Amino acid sequence: MGQAKIYYDSDADLGVLSNKKIVFLGFGNQGSAQAQNLRDSGIPNDQILIANRVDSYAETAKAKGFHVEHDFATAAEVADVLFILIPDQVQPRVFNEQFSPKLKSNATIVVASGYNVFFNLLKFQPGQDVVMVAPRMIGSSVRSLHEKGRGFPCFVSVEQNGTGKGLDAALALSCAIGATKQGAIASSVREETVMDLMAEQALWPNIIMMFREAFNVLKDAGCSDEALCYEMWMSKEPAEIFERAADDGFVAQLKHHSTVSQYGQLSGSLKLEGGAMREHFKDILYNQILSGKFCEAFSQIEDDLDKEGDTNPLNELYKRSEEMELVKAEKRVRARLAGLL
Ligand code: NDP
Repeated sequence: MGQAKIYYDSDADLGVLSNKKIVFLGFGNQGSAQAQNLRDSGIPNDQILIANRVDSYAETAKAKGFHVEHDFATAAEVADVLFILIPDQVQPRVFNEQFSPKLKSNATIVVASGYNVFFNLLKFQPGQDVVMVAPRMIGSSVRSLHEKGRGFPCFVSVEQNGTGKGLDAALALSCAIGATKQGAIASSVREETVMDLMAEQALWPNIIMMFREAFNVLKDAGCSDEALCYEMWMSKEPAEIFERAADDGFVAQLKHHSTVSQYGQLSGSLKLEGGAMREHFKDILYNQILSGKFCEAFSQIEDDLDKEGDTNPLNELYKRSEEMELVKAEKRVRARLAGLL
């Protein structure tokens, strides 16, 4: 792959959105941020509609002056553009059953994550545009950065170009939510999904495992819980390192460390050849993610994720994680230091 194209405000024409009814399905993290940014960009309030069940999210949208529609069929019928901004695991059920049958045949559908489109879990009509506008930030930052007049990193792509004008729509919508100010990177649902799932299923599980095992070894070697928790994460040193990596460079940030640290980190990492880890990562990428195996297994537990107690598979995993010595020790340390943290 070569360099990705980057789109800026000057590539977008907000005119393509004039007189279009823009519906936001969901007013949560991303929904509330993107709808407010879009309105601030000059899209008239009467063109914006929030589709949400009757509850506190709907009340928040009303309090912010938005028009709210509780009946999803009605919202679907009027939508020229539909932002799907509800949790990924409920999108197939809600979109396929309540929106898809009523949507205009030339509607533009916007997703903020590639997962459901990449794994073909959403039903689209051939004349519709399907675009991805995926901020790389949590919703509160999407909003606060826009309010400060700054942009935020975002991926953009056209996945189905039913009208032939999908890119114009994608760029106008990206610009309207503030995503082209800093430059929106041309991507795809495949790229976004594999990177996300690899981070979630390969990189971070290994990082968690490495912290767990380093903790166990150092504890066995006589280090105290208090010292370990602070040394390893409660001091926020790892967060600072990643912040420096983002600002100065992944390796260049090492220059902020002591000479002993720089020497240890560079010589140690260069000594680790990484072949076994590369094979492990490839196995996860090809046999777990791209094969569709994870998606299939996750689809089967989706409904259970709404349950209370141990029948919810996520609760069961949390319970098992609490058996880690690192977690038990942290609890003791936090209880002891309660009020001081
Ligand atoms: P949220 O969890 O904040 O979504 C909450 C919204 O979804 C509320 O409006 C809620 O309304 C609605 N909702 C939840 N369940 C249902 C349901 N069963 N039927 C109808 N509405 C429902 O989602 P996010 O904003 O976190 O995520 C939205 C999309 O943005 C996802 O695709 C996600 O991957 C993507 N994304 C998220 C980021 C983040 O910062 N969280 C970052 C980048 C992308 P109510 O409960 O009232 O029905």
